[in-house]
Amino acid sequence: QLRQVIQIMEWHLTEKELAVRLHAAEITLLGDSNLLYQVWMNLVTNAVKYTPAGGTISIAALVEGQQCIVTVTDNGTGIPAEQLPMIFDRFYKVDQARSRERNSSGLGLAIAQKIIHAHNGTIEVTSTVGEGTTFTVTLPCRPANI
Ligand code: ATP
Ligand code: MG
Repeated sequence: QLRQVIQIMEWHLTEKELAVRLHAAEITLLGDSNLLYQVWMNLVTNAVKYTPAGGTISIAALVEGQQCIVTVTDNGTGIPAEQLPMIFDRFYKVDQARSRERNSSGLGLAIAQKIIHAHNGTIEVTSTVGEGTTFTVTLPCRPANI
């Protein structure tokens, strides 16, 4: 699924000269694959939107016990600490981004958080302005082929 997202995004990635690195264990996420696909799509689209040309997006998936941890990291604009608690709110967009990015609704992360919570998972963010952003999603899962 993550590979699928990267394939779909490939055109944007090459057009913007972004490098993408994927470190993924073979895992089977437990849940609705269409909904989870929307989550990865939004996180990767955000990383592309808010990372300037020449940047790098790293996507990793690993298994820890019964949990699967997926991280999407970019070295883009970052999000000011005081705005971090709001980015999962519906329609919330960080100010500078609003002027730059007109065709975004600010709904993506609100929907992603609802989907992750409905799957008994968590979504967290760490970010530093000028350095980049990491989203960490934890979901119940099991290793593939077990
Ligand atoms: P939509 O996803 O509905 O098209 P959106 O991407 O603006 O619109 P969200 O995905 O909910 O909305 O993100 C909310 C806001 O959080 C964004 O407008 C942006 O300001 C900020 N943001 C999200 N991801 C990143 C990121 N990787 N780097 C910097 N800022 C981000
Ligand atoms: Mg978005």
